[in-house]
Amino acid sequence: MRLDKYLCEAGYGTRSEVKKLLRSGVVTVNGKKITKPETKIQEGDRVCAAGKEATFSKVEYWMLHKPAGYISATEDKKLDTVLELLPENARSDLFPVGRLDRDTEGLLLLTNDGKLAHYLLSPKRHVDKTYYARIAGQVEPEHVQAFFEGLDIGDEKKTLPADLHILQSGPESEIEVTIREGRYHQVKRMFEAIGCEVTYLKRLSMGSLKLDESLKCGACRPLTETEIRNLK
Ligand code: URA
Repeated sequence: MRLDKYLCEAGYGTRSEVKKLLRSGVVTVNGKKITKPETKIQEGDRVCAAGKEATFSKVEYWMLHKPAGYISATEDKKLDTVLELLPENARSDLFPVGRLDRDTEGLLLLTNDGKLAHYLLSPKRHVDKTYYARIAGQVEPEHVQAFFEGLDIGDEKKTLPADLHILQSGPESEIEVTIREGRYHQVKRMFEAIGCEVTYLKRLSMGSLKLDESLKCGACRPLTETEIRNLK
């Protein structure tokens, strides 16, 4: 990793602030003064700034209030990815835990903790995911039972029991639904199966992690220690 990136990740500011710090001559690597931002840092190197060792945690957890228009991927040639919404000093090896469609908003966890990601996404674990949706079409009480019994959405197997709560029913309905799998376009396809169309979709929670509603759409923050503990 480049020295300037290392110092950003260790919390010494933005790239330009870190470059200024380097120019001031207070940064050493293995005891030697270094001023070049592009200097490569290897595993085991000792980086100090003003005599204090510059270290950072190897794992990071970020909650993003994903806006529509971004894809849940780490890179794409044409489209904006959710990584572009993270601050400059976030680690460069973060990835989204699961996917939200490009037009879906709401809770997205980003981390570099592969073990936790695997745990949360494992099809065996059936971690609850709750969504709020606006629906074109009338959602009826009988659909609550249909969602609970499982729907044929064109896959090999029916969907697992899902909890559907009707918040408002009419030609345009509002609902909350909790699913326990992560199939492709699952919520949209479940509503398609009952003759309705999802016009807006927002994830509210994943397992114990709830979207912090004080986070503006497009904003992110590190998870608290309690949120991290409860997820594991
Ligand atoms: N289900 C969907 O249809 N889309 C999402 O983004 C998430 C769940």
